[in-house]
Amino acid sequence: STSRTFRSLRPPIHLPPEETPFSAAEYALSLHADHSPWPDSIAIINSSTSHKLSYSEFITRIKSLTSYLKNVTKLCKNDTAFILCPNSIEVPILYFSLLSLGVVISPANPMSSESEISHQISLSSPVIAFAVLKTCHKLPKLKHRAILIDSPEFDSILTMSPPAAATTAQRDLEKVTVSQSDSAAIMYSSGTTGRVKGVMLTHRNLMAAIAGYYPFKKERSSPTVMLYTMPYFHMFGFFYSFKSVALSETVVVMGRFDLKNMLRAVEKFRVTHLAVAPPVVVAMTKSDLTDGYDLRSLETVGCGGAPLGKDVMKVFADRFPTVDLWQGYGLTESTGVLSRSNDPEESRRWGAVGRLTAACEARIVDADTGDALPPGKQGELWVRGPTIMKGYVGDPEATSTSLDPDGWLRTGDLCYIDDEGFVFVVDRLKELIKYKGYQVPMAFVVKQSQSRINERGVMDFVAKQVAPFKKVRRVEFVSAIPKSPAGKNIEEGTEKDVSDAFIEN
Ligand code: AMP
Repeated sequence: STSRTFRSLRPPIHLPPEETPFSAAEYALSLHADHSPWPDSIAIINSSTSHKLSYSEFITRIKSLTSYLKNVTKLCKNDTAFILCPNSIEVPILYFSLLSLGVVISPANPMSSESEISHQISLSSPVIAFAVLKTCHKLPKLKHRAILIDSPEFDSILTMSPPAAATTAQRDLEKVTVSQSDSAAIMYSSGTTGRVKGVMLTHRNLMAAIAGYYPFKKERSSPTVMLYTMPYFHMFGFFYSFKSVALSETVVVMGRFDLKNMLRAVEKFRVTHLAVAPPVVVAMTKSDLTDGYDLRSLETVGCGGAPLGKDVMKVFADRFPTVDLWQGYGLTESTGVLSRSNDPEESRRWGAVGRLTAACEARIVDADTGDALPPGKQGELWVRGPTIMKGYVGDPEATSTSLDPDGWLRTGDLCYIDDEGFVFVVDRLKELIKYKGYQVPMAFVVKQSQSRINERGVMDFVAKQVAPFKKVRRVEFVSAIPKSPAGKNIEEGTEKDVSDAFIEN
């Protein structure tokens, strides 16, 4: 019944009317332009080279690239661009340019194997790819071509002097009209079953996700300095690249994660906010390295993408009493965040993943009866709202399994919501295992009667075909595959080495 629908306790979001043409890029830039309290603050910093761009330099580069991609590369609205790039300053510039042209962005993990990439490409049918020198050999031949974003040529496109860019733009006066209902991105995710699918998100989805953050902008005397340890190709980093501009944050980008470099960057750039996956929080609670750096600028650590244990949260709070550790929970299918903690009090609800974000409705559904359950009871979390995906690309069957006709998305997560609106994730109902924030397989193997294969043999066989983070790390030999396999979760964050925590290597 509707009385069993949980509604967000956050203030309502204000989006432009649905029929007004708007790309998510334009929306984020307009929020920045209209409301930034700082005239020309730093937009982005490369943590290893300290190379910085102010917001005006960042926006000039977006404009130059947009004009080049439109007039020289001839990209059109609804074309898809495949992106195979590790984190760099160029990636968000590329994202903004593509979205303002109505080009659909399809970002993949640069560690993906060639066969994973060809599967992704068969789902999204891109006309062009953007890669770096190190990843471009993995791309199959595309209808158009691949553009390297770590090349001197690309740099000269970005830094074309504004008059030249303006003249190029003048050659084609027609402005691209993007509707909010147009597709903005195809993200790769397994959803509730093992097969990789393309999650189709619209400009409106992204705008709603941005708007969910916007009203909470706190009055500050200087900009938020946000260090990203999560990759731009994952929903978390993808969405943050737009949200950070809308909120006029200064972003510190790390190409390659390592704890020491992260701590050094916090000290050097006076980082106020860290965006991380659970292994980084675990490492911060365990490592003595943290004592060697001045971390007093740090106000908040936001953690999401995978479960973070209650005990780890408490240890972290004891060790860093002045830092707020908040959790966010969401899915690629929900454009990232569905719930999050938002203030010191909420972040001290140990084990909770915060409260529902603005405009998000939820139900806790009993798997056997299909009934919507009251507060405190466990069941599958269903969610509805403006951030929920359009569907899986080219897969109506998977779409209708995940999305019901009334717009409810089945998350595949076993959750409960308490009577103060806090969401708790208890377990997963779906066939999904997370390793350091990434979706990965675990193998249950039924041996043929003659077979002498062992655990190592299975691991080596899989390792040859997948990206390193997807290697099978646990094998269980069983006599038969049960009808409804319940995947046991790999313990998150038990590794000492976090060098590949949610980051390409
Ligand atoms: P992805 O689409 O890769 O982001 O995976 C989404 C899934 O990650 C969710 O359905 C959850 O199972 C899990 N997840 C994400 N954030 C959290 C969190 N804060 N706590 C527990 N599980 C999470």
